[in-house]
Amino acid sequence: MSHLVRAVVYDAPGQFSVRDVAVPGPGAGEVRLAVEMAGMCGTDLHIDAGGFFSRYPLTPGHEIVGRVEALGDGVTSLALGERVVADNTVLCGHCAACRRGEPLYCHNLYSLGVNGPGGFADAVVVREEKCFVAGDLDLHAAVMTEPVSCVVHGMDVLGLRPGADVLVFGAGPTGLVLAQLLVHGGAARVTLAAPTAHKLALARSYGIDVTVELDRDDPAGAVPALRAGAPDGYDVVVDATGALSVVEICLQLVRDGGTFFVYGMTDEQASVPLRPYEVFRRELTIKGSFAQTHCFDRALALLRSGRVRTDGIVTHEFALGDYGRALEATRSDRSCIKAVVVP
Ligand SMILES: [Zn+2]
Ligand SMILES: [Zn+2]
Repeated sequence: MSHLVRAVVYDAPGQFSVRDVAVPGPGAGEVRLAVEMAGMCGTDLHIDAGGFFSRYPLTPGHEIVGRVEALGDGVTSLALGERVVADNTVLCGHCAACRRGEPLYCHNLYSLGVNGPGGFADAVVVREEKCFVAGDLDLHAAVMTEPVSCVVHGMDVLGLRPGADVLVFGAGPTGLVLAQLLVHGGAARVTLAAPTAHKLALARSYGIDVTVELDRDDPAGAVPALRAGAPDGYDVVVDATGALSVVEICLQLVRDGGTFFVYGMTDEQASVPLRPYEVFRRELTIKGSFAQTHCFDRALALLRSGRVRTDGIVTHEFALGDYGRALEATRSDRSCIKAVVVP
């Protein structure tokens, strides 16, 4: 059985069209979701350019909210019409990493919207156990579940020490959510540095302690001001921008014994110089975090309680046929925090 849906389809990097495609199933243990909203993020720009581990032909869209519209055989935990968010990560369960209990390093990691069909479509097929009931959670909050899940995993990786002084670069959706969880996760102070004034204002409304406006073309110009705020450096410095000009200034802002947390996605081949002596002598730690598995339930709990606020983050909505405009807004519209596609 298959079902015809309209979807964004890439045949190669940078080459997409919106057209009818046959969606198979849902098979046993799967459901088909009528997509209500799918979020776009910086990862989609990398995927548009053929980066990350994308595979073609591809329908992108890894931040998916939908209503259950068809049940495969044996599905018992979901009802038709129910609003769910879909955990896009699919793990093989039998590779060495899965068998070690480290599923995010799955050698066969399959991700809806990255190397499997995603949510920039009228409908998408998802495994039953990957659907989390969103209930009456507001659509604009529900669409943030995947990014919040990634931040939850990032917090697990970071292992923040209570009382830490933290500097975050980047006030995109991820930076705004991460900064909030750092505030609530025991940081003594969180400073957020970014180039866009209205994003910093939103951060302050979320309770972020200090904001610093960066010159987009010269982030290094802010080092003296950031230094003045923490003469010995910050316990944790987070890059949530993926911009090399920012990554280059992070280590010098870390306190001796502190941590540089790589949370933004740079181009895969990009590199920055590193002085090993500095890492050695100052006992620095460098950590990274790139996605999530098994964090959707905690992300939903944070969104439901309002501990993580998302009001004001979705700034742009586009119809499926305007997918190209959504990409453009995400790429270069300074007023855009998050664009979403509403099929
Ligand atoms: Zn994303
Ligand atoms: Zn695996």
